[in-house]
Amino acid sequence: MNVADSQRLASALERIGYQSALQAEDADVIVLNTCVVRQSAEDKAYGRLHSLRPLKEKNPQLVINLMGCLVGVRSYDRLQQRFPFVDVFSPPSDPGPLVSFLTQGEAQTLEQAEMLRRFALMDEETDALLLPEPERGRLISAHVPVVLGCSHACTFCIIPYKRGIERSRPVGAIISEVRSLVAQGVKEITFLGQIVDRYGKDVPGGPNLAALLRLAHEVEGLERIRFLTSHPNWMNDELLDTVAVLPRVMPHIEVPVQAGDNAVLENMKRGYKADDYRRLVERIRSKLNSSFPGVSIATDIIVGFPGETDAQFQRTYDLLAELRLDVAHLARYSPRPGTVADRRLPDDVPAEQKMERFRCLETLQEHISAEISAHYLGEIVPVLFEEKVKNRWKGRTPTNKLVFTEAADDLRGQLRPVRITWAGPWSMQGTV
Ligand code: SF4
Repeated sequence: MNVADSQRLASALERIGYQSALQAEDADVIVLNTCVVRQSAEDKAYGRLHSLRPLKEKNPQLVINLMGCLVGVRSYDRLQQRFPFVDVFSPPSDPGPLVSFLTQGEAQTLEQAEMLRRFALMDEETDALLLPEPERGRLISAHVPVVLGCSHACTFCIIPYKRGIERSRPVGAIISEVRSLVAQGVKEITFLGQIVDRYGKDVPGGPNLAALLRLAHEVEGLERIRFLTSHPNWMNDELLDTVAVLPRVMPHIEVPVQAGDNAVLENMKRGYKADDYRRLVERIRSKLNSSFPGVSIATDIIVGFPGETDAQFQRTYDLLAELRLDVAHLARYSPRPGTVADRRLPDDVPAEQKMERFRCLETLQEHISAEISAHYLGEIVPVLFEEKVKNRWKGRTPTNKLVFTEAADDLRGQLRPVRITWAGPWSMQGTV
């Protein structure tokens, strides 16, 4: 989501005459777009912010903009006191405060920004998105936010506090953005939402994600469509059937389970039980696994949630071992200030134990991913190539597996059949 937000901000800055600088020391404006989903991300953001201070002292004309979840959608008075060298504070997904500071010499307040955003939504913000110059004609895979914010309020999660309540973007604005991206060379779109399968549910009589996928599928020149992240409770049959029948919607589902123990899931307020997730995985596979390579499923897991016992962790381990999903994004729990978990549940799993559990799942998943990848050996799969990294072309299979290949041709944006010659847990190699 932050990558997409940064792209939009860069695009807005170019529209008022700015261009990207190669290094911070050369810039007139520096934007630090921040994430606070875990303590480590927040620490990193503060570290980077402190490192900008000497630049501002050397050049008082420099404009520093702090953006994203560190600022949030409410008040930023405390940040202003703590970081007086920051000129502009912007909530996530909103270039407004910086653009107005640069054009009118004053930053919008969060209330003004919110009002303008609502007007823009009412106007259906049909503006096409012009990619920032360094990416125009070169970016192959782009992210398009379709649902902003989240209203679910899992007890551990800071996102609803920082990105605000769930708001679906108008379908017309999304499709014109997709068309404009394709006209600039983009071949693959990933629709984004904290709960992307809730797209349209906040708008009475609004379209749903299945309808949005069908519309995007009509866009000429678009080769691939993906979406993330789904919530298990909203992944209905209509959506899965739509993925099954539309050839350009990729068979890759990102659907976090977070834990395999029902009491932990209840404490997290996820809204489902481990068996519901089992049944969902079965349903996804039965609908999307018809031919090789079938569907890939990615999940997220938090270890060391407050009160998690060894037996409860074991149930998460067993679930992962049983379901054999393609990818597991793992995180060690860290309390986020202001969340329900932070206020009501003591962070009582020692750091070493969190690490031990993390490593245990990491090792398990490495084996599972290696085993799944091994099925690709010798097979021919369609790979969409995105860029050259250290003399090798990097692309992805429909199931989102990374593939590297050596080729003299320019493969950027090419969809080519590739024979897989080597397969490891996290990537593969092949020949075009
Ligand atoms: S669904 Fe839960 S974890 Fe995901 S963004 Fe919303 S509150 Fe956070």
